[in-house]
Amino acid sequence: MTSDDRGADATPEWTPLGRYERIVRCSQGHIYRTNWWPLGSFKAVRLGATRIQRCPVCRRWRMTRCVDRASLTPSELAEAAANHDSGIW
Ligand SMILES: [Zn+2]
Repeated sequence: MTSDDRGADATPEWTPLGRYERIVRCSQGHIYRTNWWPLGSFKAVRLGATRIQRCPVCRRWRMTRCVDRASLTPSELAEAAANHDSGIW
C-alpha cells in the first residue's frame, strides 16, 4: 500500500501506443487498441489495413480496420483508451 493514493480517475488515461499497437475499429463501430503485429501478416498483407479479429467490446470476430488516430474525435479516443485488447490473441 502506498501513501500516495490518487483514487479513481473517471477519465481513462491515454498511454502512448506500443511499438506494434494500433487503434482499430470493428465492423460494429467499436474502437479499441490492439497489438497489430506485422509478423503473421506476411501472407495477409493483401488485406491491407483490414483483418479479422475478435473485438474485446462485442466479443465477436469482426472485420477490423486500422484507423488514424488523428481522425478520431476526443470521445472516440477515450473509447479507444478504455478498450484495450491486451494480449487476448
Ligand atoms: Zn465490436
